Amino acid sequence: CGIVGILGNHEVAPIILDALKRLEYRGYDSAGIATLNHGHMESRRAVGKLAALSDLLVQSPIRGHSGIGHTRWATHGAPTEINAHPHRAGSVAVVHNGIIENFREIRDELAAEGRSFASETDTEVVAQLAAHYIDRGLAPGDAAAATLSRLEGAFALCFLFEGEEDLMVAARAGSPLAIGHGDGEMFVGSDALALAPMTNRVTYLQEGDYAIIRRGGAVIHDAAGNRVTREMKTVSIDT
Ligand code: GLU
Repeated sequence: CGIVGILGNHEVAPIILDALKRLEYRGYDSAGIATLNHGHMESRRAVGKLAALSDLLVQSPIRGHSGIGHTRWATHGAPTEINAHPHRAGSVAVVHNGIIENFREIRDELAAEGRSFASETDTEVVAQLAAHYIDRGLAPGDAAAATLSRLEGAFALCFLFEGEEDLMVAARAGSPLAIGHGDGEMFVGSDALALAPMTNRVTYLQEGDYAIIRRGGAVIHDAAGNRVTREMKTVSIDT
């Protein structure tokens, strides 16, 4: 129900946790974070309040300057640790708000190819499909774009890829998503409030847009894959 992504220059796990707290007002039943530690992906997920995830991160910290986080409001699959996001397949991790309407069709297709699914969520097909395209030779950004072109439903998504410290892909189809611009850092959030302590310079993705995000900036494409320019706004929010 809440999404955060950071390509930063500091340890991101505490910053992501803090941003997730700012999205708590939306409600959630579980939460999780994935980071890249020298390219290697690590993740922690916990059922219940963010305090549970926070405790887990104290016991078992994860490091890295790139990461994504999520608060989940379960729609498909019970609120369990295995169904909590980020969902992982191969080198791909995904956080997702909303519903992938055609997930059964995609899951059946991928299962027929021998891919096995760990969770009961609609979300996992997104990670599995992107991993499938990467296995077929696509670069991570292209694999995400190919995946997005298959998805039906109302959703916001953020992808992170193992071995790719300077890449996130964010997409919006029906659920709002903001890209935050820092100085040599970039952010993704469900709303500008989540990003308020980090930046007040925000670009809202428009319906169908996806963004290839690196620390140097974001390249935004519309649903047809054309490069587009979206206005950057300076928002004022009391932190
Ligand atoms: N449909 C997804 C799930 O049940 C995402 C729910 C959400 O928006 O948090 O895992």
